[in-house]
Amino acid sequence: MLTDSPPRKTNRTGFLKSDRIKSLDLPQDGCLFAIAKSIESTLRTAKPIDLYRACAQFLDGASTFYNVPDCVIRVLAARVLRLRERGTFELFGDYAPETMLIGVWMRTAEPKEITSFGIFLSTLCHEFCHHLDFQKFGYPDSWHIRGFYEPAAVLYHHARGTPQKRLFGVSMAGGDGASTGRGRTRPHAGKSLEWQTI
Ligand SMILES: [Zn+2]
Repeated sequence: MLTDSPPRKTNRTGFLKSDRIKSLDLPQDGCLFAIAKSIESTLRTAKPIDLYRACAQFLDGASTFYNVPDCVIRVLAARVLRLRERGTFELFGDYAPETMLIGVWMRTAEPKEITSFGIFLSTLCHEFCHHLDFQKFGYPDSWHIRGFYEPAAVLYHHARGTPQKRLFGVSMAGGDGASTGRGRTRPHAGKSLEWQTI
């Protein structure tokens, strides 16, 4: 996971505030875990309509708990490839703040195999956390920073029923990372951190 560098002027305050959030309240009724199980089983069937319904149910449950407007889900076929200076990468998901539309891809780019459940659910939680940044926390943007990855990981592990893992940062001087998942990609120059789980 590559982090975005702080903006130089505009939105810098929001960026720093966003980076301080390290956790997330979680529903205690087990509903997201149960729905995630149905996502896992429908992913195996490879039927987009069933997967769409399960994802929509997951997002409805999460949106209700966090008291944010419902977002819309698109379940897409094979991931698209994006060409960047440093190579080609696959887009796993995206979120458009203007339309509150989340897109997730159910197959890898090449070969077109069904995405693993862990990656699929992680992507869904990741994109929903972009939704929270805008609709719950009111940030003017949603950055890929530790304050984003931590709550996204909390939500993912809660939904999957797995133990939380700590994130640690690795400095990358002069990094030119490509961020995926917001419906846009952008280079960010300067020093950045790569976050990994342990
Ligand atoms: Zn993202």
